[in-house]
Amino acid sequence: MPPTAAVAASPSRFPIEDFGPSGASRTRNPDDFNASRNRLLRQLEPDDLLRMGDQCEPVWLAAGEALGHMGGPLSHVYYPVTATIALMAQADQLAGLQVTLIGREGLLASPVIDGPAMSPLNALVRTGGWTWRMGADAFRAEVALNPRLRGMLDHYLYVLLGEASRVSACTRFHGVEARLARWLLTLADRVGACGFPLKLQVMADMLGTQRSGVSVATMRLRQHGLIRYSRGSVVIVDLRALERSACDCYRWANQLRDHMLHVEAAPHAGDGNAPARTD
Ligand SMILES: [Zn+2]
Repeated sequence: MPPTAAVAASPSRFPIEDFGPSGASRTRNPDDFNASRNRLLRQLEPDDLLRMGDQCEPVWLAAGEALGHMGGPLSHVYYPVTATIALMAQADQLAGLQVTLIGREGLLASPVIDGPAMSPLNALVRTGGWTWRMGADAFRAEVALNPRLRGMLDHYLYVLLGEASRVSACTRFHGVEARLARWLLTLADRVGACGFPLKLQVMADMLGTQRSGVSVATMRLRQHGLIRYSRGSVVIVDLRALERSACDCYRWANQLRDHMLHVEAAPHAGDGNAPARTD
């Protein structure tokens, strides 16, 4: 059961004191709720953070949960803290493709920024975790009176558009193993850890390919000592080598984000075996 306590405001960070008890399957870590762990929230002015904090609530998202369907409205916006959200392009009821992955560096909001609109993509929780949630109407009102937030969103949407466009070329010209390495590194960056749950079928859904192809690619990465995979969990063993195995889209997407979002110098996933990017 997600926490439902009212959210008070704090000028320096979203509060952690008033959260309700977490469910038995979750580890309550106060730092998970710290707004500074979401990069977009971290860039807000203290007064803006204070005002938005009054309208946000923390929610736990379970892996596989659908947050928005293609063609439907989005009732809330989400600022992930430890959760990740995949945007999926759906060709038919069975076939889909992950076009971008949203984590603590961004937010899920694009369909509601300028008014109620149909979502062009499905939004699916990729890895479970905490997120801040804000009603769509309240968010639109905040964007209307906050030029700084509006500017941040414009840059962020440009990044999402660039990444989504790149995926079409990536899928056509890059092999399954290189694409899998790319998304594993991206996921590590978003969750800030080298280990995370990820089943083979989910990997196949991410890449828009057959499970058998992902199974072979996973086996090769294991044989080369780049990852461990057991019981639906991935552990990246050699970040630098995995980055060398990834297609160039990983580096390209990081450069785009760093440039457009003005990221401070931060280690990328391939910088040794330190934690992944700190965005
Ligand atoms: Zn690629």
